[in-house]
Amino acid sequence: MRTRLDHLVTSALQQGSAVPAFTCYDFTTALAVVGAAEESGRGVILLVAPKTAASANGLRLIAALRGLADAATVPVAVQLDHASDLNVMAAAVEAGADSVLADGSSLPYEENIELVQAARALLGADVVLEAELGGLAGDEDRAFSADQPAGQSGTDLAGLTDSAQVEDFVSRTGAELLAVAVGNVHGKYKGEPRLRWDVLQDIAARVHIPLVLHGASGIPAAELVKAAAMNVGKVNFNTELRTGVLVTLQDQLPGHRADGENLQGLLATWNHSAKGFAAATLATLAR
Ligand SMILES: [Zn+2]
Repeated sequence: MRTRLDHLVTSALQQGSAVPAFTCYDFTTALAVVGAAEESGRGVILLVAPKTAASANGLRLIAALRGLADAATVPVAVQLDHASDLNVMAAAVEAGADSVLADGSSLPYEENIELVQAARALLGADVVLEAELGGLAGDEDRAFSADQPAGQSGTDLAGLTDSAQVEDFVSRTGAELLAVAVGNVHGKYKGEPRLRWDVLQDIAARVHIPLVLHGASGIPAAELVKAAAMNVGKVNFNTELRTGVLVTLQDQLPGHRADGENLQGLLATWNHSAKGFAAATLATLAR
């Protein structure tokens, strides 16, 4: 069923848990995620990457996800992830996205605020806006951590959200959710992830909108559970989902090929892998 993303997240936080958001590059993965959510009886967020939304086929995928979300038996929101192009935001919302991450985190502070304000002016009050303050290391769509030079691990202080800025940032952008950089990275972690709980706690004390943790793949379950207590109501997963699907497909492909070129069987294997990951994540965050 259709839901406002901020309402979904706020009601989860009131029960002491966070809502997982999964990047869907394709409909098979989205079906698996929604299937897992329905079986768990919990809401979920479908994320669309900006590169996906920038193509005509991507906009058709958003329309398909919109239909899937509306027909689901649990609350499902569709969000355009990490967008900095206003045209892509408008097209994604027109295609059916109900929320946008207006991401100006790589811009200077004032320009970041201007981007979110411009997104609000363009998209209107009904579209839920997430904004991001602080730089996240890594690539959203591909994982290459082994090749990252030192200092790109996401734990260097320069990339962290400056907690002294968050009140001003939230009040001036009017964002409904705030993505933070507290030692989390996109892609694979180099060594053990080290979240800066002190920074997160400081941010949570200063602003009262739900916080968002990107790059959650690889963060231990116990840590994720702890984050919800600090107002982290939305947790984004991408890398781990891709890894699981690709490992399973590589393993099962020869068998399905030998079984009469069984593409349907392969898609069922894909669904099973993605659904298993989504179900485990939903269970972890519900603890
Ligand atoms: Zn992200």
